[in-house]
Amino acid sequence: AKDKGRNLLHVFDPEQNEHRQQRRAQLIELSRALENKEFELHFQPQVRIADCKVIGFEALIRWNHPHKGLLYPDAFLPSLEASHLEVPLGQWVLEEAVFQMGLWHDAGEDLSVSINISARHMMDWSFTSYLENYLQCHPAIKPEQITLEVLESTSLEDIKRASDVLARCQELGFRVALDDFGTGFSSLSYLNTLPIDLVKVDKSFVINMLNDSNDRAIVESVIFMGQRFSHPILAEGVETFDHARALSDLGCEYMQGYGVGRPMPAGNVLEWTQQWRK
Ligand code: C2E
Ligand code: CA
Ligand code: CA
Ligand code: CA
Repeated sequence: AKDKGRNLLHVFDPEQNEHRQQRRAQLIELSRALENKEFELHFQPQVRIADCKVIGFEALIRWNHPHKGLLYPDAFLPSLEASHLEVPLGQWVLEEAVFQMGLWHDAGEDLSVSINISARHMMDWSFTSYLENYLQCHPAIKPEQITLEVLESTSLEDIKRASDVLARCQELGFRVALDDFGTGFSSLSYLNTLPIDLVKVDKSFVINMLNDSNDRAIVESVIFMGQRFSHPILAEGVETFDHARALSDLGCEYMQGYGVGRPMPAGNVLEWTQQWRK
């Protein structure tokens, strides 16, 4: 009875109500932003630790807000979650990434790109057929150049379906990465069940691994588990050379972080890549 009372209070909580209204207002704004093409993708390099070869770029969404300036995903993705806009925005991200890859291809660089896919988008009935059709229209881009990053922390409720969808993506030639590994609840069962090509260690553990022995222990176990399942590992949040060396000693193969390169506008990617090779 006590719990029930609490729930009722929750329903009539004016703060909650205000929060809902704010979310609704932002959704309307987001829908307008999608129409007005106010979103853009920035790209962050991912490299092999052993020889610093660029293996690809992760596409990260930004909202170029007409009054507020450049907004980061934390400021607007939560409003979007579970709304009718989640799938359309996910499709926009895919299309924009492939569009940029096409421009780089035309300039003589076939770069690989990692794309964040929300669980709901991935589980949408049209997801795999959409991917299939889309690539048929862009023969210059090979599916092998695209890695789909799936969040481990979003509960992929129906793990059997999730693994069927991802297996189909792999059949089409896409690569699959398990994002933010170590932060979710079912980490180990995902590792065992989902078809994946790469495991990403969450930056929250990597950033402090040099001075926090608990974080270091988590990074070590995640790398160890990934290796047990024969998955290559990429560590995020590599901010310094010492991070890179420590990770390399632990057997981590790839890295991504401010120490290598910050996310950059699409227009800077070719120049960055050419500079990096020098
Ligand atoms: P994520 O997938 O874990 O992406 C990595 C985040 O870490 C990015 O934040 C990136 O800018 C940041 N980062 C990279 N290197 C470092 C570092 O060395 N130190 C620190 N402190 N941070 C670093 P960002 O761009 O703000 O993105 C936040 C999250 O929003 C992403 O986390 C991802 O879950 C989500 N997201 C971003 N773009 C998309 C998208 O297009 N679609 C979907 N569904 N989610 C997206
Ligand atoms: Ca990611
Ligand atoms: Ca991540
Ligand atoms: Ca994250």
